[in-house]
Amino acid sequence: MITALLLTVSTGWLALRRAGKKAGRKAIYTILAFILFLVTACGNLTGKQPPTPADQSYQPGAQTAFPAPEAASGPSPSQENPPGSSTPPAESGKLRVHYLDVGQGDAILVQLPDGKNILIDSGTGEAGPGVVRELKQYSVKKLDYVIGTHPHEDHIGGLDLVINSFQVGKVYLPRVTHNTDAYMDLLLAIKNKGLKATEAKAGVALPLDMGIQALFVSPAKSNYEDLNDYSAVLHLTYGQTAFLFTGDAGTTAEEEMLASGRPLKADVLKVAHHGSRYATSTAFLKAVAPRYAVISVGKGNDYGHPHVQTLQRLQKAGVKIYRTDRDGTITAVSDGRKVTIQ
Ligand SMILES: [Zn+2]
Repeated sequence: MITALLLTVSTGWLALRRAGKKAGRKAIYTILAFILFLVTACGNLTGKQPPTPADQSYQPGAQTAFPAPEAASGPSPSQENPPGSSTPPAESGKLRVHYLDVGQGDAILVQLPDGKNILIDSGTGEAGPGVVRELKQYSVKKLDYVIGTHPHEDHIGGLDLVINSFQVGKVYLPRVTHNTDAYMDLLLAIKNKGLKATEAKAGVALPLDMGIQALFVSPAKSNYEDLNDYSAVLHLTYGQTAFLFTGDAGTTAEEEMLASGRPLKADVLKVAHHGSRYATSTAFLKAVAPRYAVISVGKGNDYGHPHVQTLQRLQKAGVKIYRTDRDGTITAVSDGRKVTIQ
């Protein structure tokens, strides 16, 4: 607790020094965000709030201080796929997945046949206004489920603006924090909207209808060296078709997913980590066995994404590759039997 307070004070002081007079407001805002974050986290740590199932599963002393997540367990729909629950989709029902072109980053809108919307990531803060505009073009009024795969800015930077711009049902985040303005802004937006983040972890499913199943298959652990490996990976099944959304999960997470026996097979793979060579291993590709791969990547990015070795692995596996830097926003449509790319 004392360490946390010291951290707040020192971080605030550093922010003030760095920010200068012009950005004084920003610095003060940073301090407020930290204090808010500590208040939400400390409630759990000190046990001053009445215990909830979420508090009981909270790990005090763990490096992460996830702010008051809702319980992701218990007799709710958020469980593993019940066997045989997949009913055939409606004849006219189409599921649409839009892989938005947000430059270097990820933002994916899933439109379900019953009109529900799932947003996976939002791109950077800079991309945020464009994402809001594009969602409105797709007639989005409410985002039933918002998933921030992991706290990196190229995934959650625009999420505060998105949350402030639409009705939002549930927000899912992996249990890990990150000391950046972008992440604090996200926590503030969630809190100001009167929402609580639900933990995204392997085994948790979104409560969906029409036989559509959306199951988190990663992260399985609570501690990783690489922030990317905390990525919430979602496997979505509609009729005989499936999609895999991998965030920036790396090979460590891939190995766990392979060992877990959870469903990975998919018609369309959102290639992890913008096509970095430290993801999309040959073994993982074999298990997913996609027909199509979508790489969400910025033109001429500084990271050398996508890596030539990843592209070669995909080509060797006979996968047709689409890239947001070349193709712009990519839309995959499923009628429950087969997927077509537009
Ligand atoms: Zn990324």
